[in-house]
Amino acid sequence: MVATPAYPDSKLCINGQWQDPADGRTLAVINPATGKEIGRVAHAGVQELEQVVAAAKRAFPLWSGMTAAQRSAIMRKAAALIRERAADIARLMTLENGKPLPEAKGETLAAADIIEWFAEEGFRVYGRIVPTRGKPMQRQMVLKDPVGPVAAFTPWNFPINQVVRKLAPALATGCSVVLKAPEETPASPAALVQAFQDAGLPPGTLGLVYGDPAEISEYLIRHPDIRKITFTGSTQVGKQLAALAGGHMKRATMELGGHAPVIVCEDADIALAVKAVGNAKFRNAGQVCIAPSRVLVHESIHDEFVAALAKWAKHLHVADGMTDGAQMGPLANARRLTAMSRFFQDAVEKGAQVLAGGDRIGDVGNFWAPTVLSDVSLDARIFNEEPFGPITATRSFNTLDEAIAEANRLSYGLAGYAFTRSLASADQLIRRVEVGMLYLNMPAVPTAEMPFGGVKDSGYRSEGGPEAMEAYLNTRSVSMMSV
Ligand code: NAD
Repeated sequence: MVATPAYPDSKLCINGQWQDPADGRTLAVINPATGKEIGRVAHAGVQELEQVVAAAKRAFPLWSGMTAAQRSAIMRKAAALIRERAADIARLMTLENGKPLPEAKGETLAAADIIEWFAEEGFRVYGRIVPTRGKPMQRQMVLKDPVGPVAAFTPWNFPINQVVRKLAPALATGCSVVLKAPEETPASPAALVQAFQDAGLPPGTLGLVYGDPAEISEYLIRHPDIRKITFTGSTQVGKQLAALAGGHMKRATMELGGHAPVIVCEDADIALAVKAVGNAKFRNAGQVCIAPSRVLVHESIHDEFVAALAKWAKHLHVADGMTDGAQMGPLANARRLTAMSRFFQDAVEKGAQVLAGGDRIGDVGNFWAPTVLSDVSLDARIFNEEPFGPITATRSFNTLDEAIAEANRLSYGLAGYAFTRSLASADQLIRRVEVGMLYLNMPAVPTAEMPFGGVKDSGYRSEGGPEAMEAYLNTRSVSMMSV
């Protein structure tokens, strides 16, 4: 067991100051491995929300008025501090979220990479000079400006990564940010905010609040000084927030739920497919929006594939994320445990075969055994609703057309995976599978430079690549003639 560090109470960060709410309200933070309270998190009221927006409004002209080089230097300094502090930040994350310590450390280090990439991308916010149709002395220009103060809402499954995917492009373009970080995992995002402050981010450029998510989003989205909304979470909540943003004519980025199909063709490298699915499905206890969740295997290799995947699941070391060698920790909250139990019961009642797992482990903490189900009925809930947990649902298929039709059947369209050695099948998959991110013969590797986002009900606008910068920029055109 790694020595347990002290877990701090989390405060609000308003205008560069850490503070408690005026009414002193706090919420409990629970360690999902033990079920015990480990700290408290401040609960913002309207007074604090007013203050944090006012600070972001004041900071915006200052931050956007700095040069790209000045902003980049502060962001790169923050990335360096995050790397230096990664071991401590990772411990906080494991205590509050449950994921194994190496996963938490990997997430923290990857955040530093993402911040650095966007710090460089800030130098490439270009406009255009467009040739005119009119007189030679006319000039036409396209300008890109930061959209203004941003409200960002991030979830508990990747407490740091989800923040950085919004924060890094927003800051790089010159926007100030009010962040509503997850109440269930507040300390690691607070450590991230601290790193930006220590790197010299001007006060107010990044505010941090926690509280009642619905109350805060209602307030921020309606507020006239907030010009852009970005949310990561469920499709259901995303639709509500997008509607509210639409009602107030606010730009929005929605990174929502997924139900990733995996198509394992008859000519697939089976060992590669098992490894990729096994790793991706049980990482972060399956609480990943791009986790493989509907595994479709060609009937000729179905039995071999599912047996190997079940073996993989049974060998995983499930334990408190602070334990050396833990490969999967507890689910992040008790709601997920209840959800797993319901998905499992429903699938079994509808005829699924249980090849591994299928139950809670012990009665302390939110541990669920890595589970593999085969012959899952198409009308089982787990084949229709986002599982967001460590249950792998599989079934066989006969033709590629049938598999692609199943992949596209749901309204989700986030990630998809396929394994084949055939160029013709790969071509069909690339053309026809309706997802924002497709991975062929490989696991998902979401890097800063590649677009990250969904189609259909999985949301819109990207959180990676130059497209992520575009989401925080207004385009203006200026036409002039020298007289
Ligand atoms: P939930 O839908 O209540 O919450 C999901 C996230 O949205 C949380 O971070 C929550 O604080 C936030 N949220 C909820 N209502 C909000 C509102 N009105 N305004 C602003 N933020 C709001 O469900 P949950 O039990 O926390 O998570 C379960 C489901 O959420 C999962 O099944 C999964 O579909 C989805 N989820 C997706 C992601 C992702 O990475 N896309 C991350 C976490 C949760």
